[in-house]
Amino acid sequence: MENDSLKKIISHCKAFGFVFQSSEIYDGLSAVYDYGPLGSELKNNLKSYWWKAMVHLEQNIVGLDSAIFMDPKTWEASGHVDAFNDPLIDNKDSKKRYRADVLVEEYLLKIESKINKEISKGKKRFGDSFDENEFKSTNPRVLKYSKKHQEISNRLGEMLSSNDLKGLAELINELEINDPVSGTSNWTDVKQFNLMFSTEVGSNTENTKKLYLRPETAQGIFVNFLNVINSTRSKIPFGIAQIGKAFRNEIIARQFIFRMREFEQMEMQFFVQPGTELEWYDKWKEQRLKWHKSLGLGNDLYRFHDHKNLAHYANAACDIEFKFPMGFKELEGIHSRTDFDLIKHQEKSKKKILYFDQKSGESYVPYVVETSIGLDRLFLSVLATSYKEEALADGSNRTFLKIPFEIAPVKCAVLPLNAKDGLPEKAKDIFDIIRFKFNCQLDIKDSIGKRYRRQDAIGTPLCVTVDYDSLKDNSVTVRNRDDMSQERISIDNIISFIDDRTSIINLLKNFS
Ligand code: ATP
Repeated sequence: MENDSLKKIISHCKAFGFVFQSSEIYDGLSAVYDYGPLGSELKNNLKSYWWKAMVHLEQNIVGLDSAIFMDPKTWEASGHVDAFNDPLIDNKDSKKRYRADVLVEEYLLKIESKINKEISKGKKRFGDSFDENEFKSTNPRVLKYSKKHQEISNRLGEMLSSNDLKGLAELINELEINDPVSGTSNWTDVKQFNLMFSTEVGSNTENTKKLYLRPETAQGIFVNFLNVINSTRSKIPFGIAQIGKAFRNEIIARQFIFRMREFEQMEMQFFVQPGTELEWYDKWKEQRLKWHKSLGLGNDLYRFHDHKNLAHYANAACDIEFKFPMGFKELEGIHSRTDFDLIKHQEKSKKKILYFDQKSGESYVPYVVETSIGLDRLFLSVLATSYKEEALADGSNRTFLKIPFEIAPVKCAVLPLNAKDGLPEKAKDIFDIIRFKFNCQLDIKDSIGKRYRRQDAIGTPLCVTVDYDSLKDNSVTVRNRDDMSQERISIDNIISFIDDRTSIINLLKNFS
């Protein structure tokens, strides 16, 4: 179920053209979304910020745009055909399907909230003298809950890594987890379900071939490793970055654009000398967190979640989690993937995938550190944090999107005070100067107050108002979205005024 603040964001997104349900006129395709006029602008700005930070600012990272379709052997080599599965369980009464691991994780969340309840009670009882750490390590109830939590999460981790489906079903029954819809525990066995979508290519039955829609962009980078080193002067350590669509047949289709069946990833694979990967892993962890924080949404909205149960190909992994309206959840994954993928492609393709180190005269298969962020989740993190409702001094209310100026979809609106007396013409002259440089709007209809509200609702940082004085002294008033302060500036300086406040260079300088 979506919580109230997420519901508000979803309806705001629809009303103002950020995100629409896909194929809505046919009642909508579940877990697939379209980005509207403003959503596509915001998405492009986010991509551009990531690309500039990753590819243009980093001297040793190059870009790539590989195809969605790949030879199906790619997915056999990477392990996706055999092992890219979710463990599923059905409830026989409601006929609903769930991810078995998520049912257990939700149970664990309930234990966590019981612990938090005890802590709040303790805080109330002990007031200023309350010491949370001491309370957690001595309070019998908290200790009991924590022990149970630890035991269950250890068992879950072991079952997932050893693919123990029978154990998972037993755990769900043992914990007496009921289906939230039917309220019963009438469960089926747990089955594996492959998340890849497939299609066919070829004109007749003899030469058709089964293809997969890529479930991650990373493999396009690995299979192009040799092409990139042969065509560029890249020397290890170096990275290859790309932005592109990925497809997963997700079972839990909810929480808006957080979990989609078609989504976009921004991934970077960094190739390093074996033995140095953990150093690079730590560096990229810090660097990526710094990038997120540079957006200015709030430093306390991010945290690391280090993985205890590592995927078979990783020797270290963590998530950068963001505080979404549904709680802290994964926004980006950082994985030390060893040489697993390159070795597998080497075996499958029977082509040597080696890097020749000129200094040592040795050849080796590089290790890889990956940073992988979901663009749609990044988009949601920005919108969810930016959505504000504010009571104004005059008793009215306004809803505004406090999107960082540098990534706002529309940078500036030009508003003539009245729709007569030569003001619209003057506004159009200004619009014609600035539209070559910024995405801006010329808005003439309705009262100025209404037009300000409209721009607030789509997060436009600056509104330029053209009044009668503008006709005489060639100046305009610029209103700031966040504090609604107004400033008089000369039209001659308008481009640099807007640029100083909205250029993506501001963010990049913050970050580098
Ligand atoms: P989750 O555990 O939430 O399913 P994951 O660990 O499978 O995610 P990765 O395979 O590490 O995700 O993918 C890298 C990034 O791609 C994630 O951090 C996330 O931002 C994004 N991502 C993954 N699956 C989806 C999805 N179904 N919809 C939107 N974004 C996704």
